[in-house]
Amino acid sequence: MQMQTREGIQCPKCKTIMEYSIETEKFTDGTKRIKSFYKCPVCNYKVNDQQISVSKVDGTEKLIIKIEKFF
Ligand SMILES: [Zn+2]
Repeated sequence: MQMQTREGIQCPKCKTIMEYSIETEKFTDGTKRIKSFYKCPVCNYKVNDQQISVSKVDGTEKLIIKIEKFF
């Protein structure tokens, strides 16, 4: 369970306010995945926020966007 305070998301392990960050991954098939998450600067505990996947179909501009929301 996550604790949400006025300052942000609190680490469930050590109660530190977690930092929000975004990570982008690119795969060989052209798929891009953008992940946003909260990370504890003290114990490195990670909580996922959302994940967006963008795929190209047969090299065309057809995009598949998949959004997963964790909060
Ligand atoms: Zn922590």
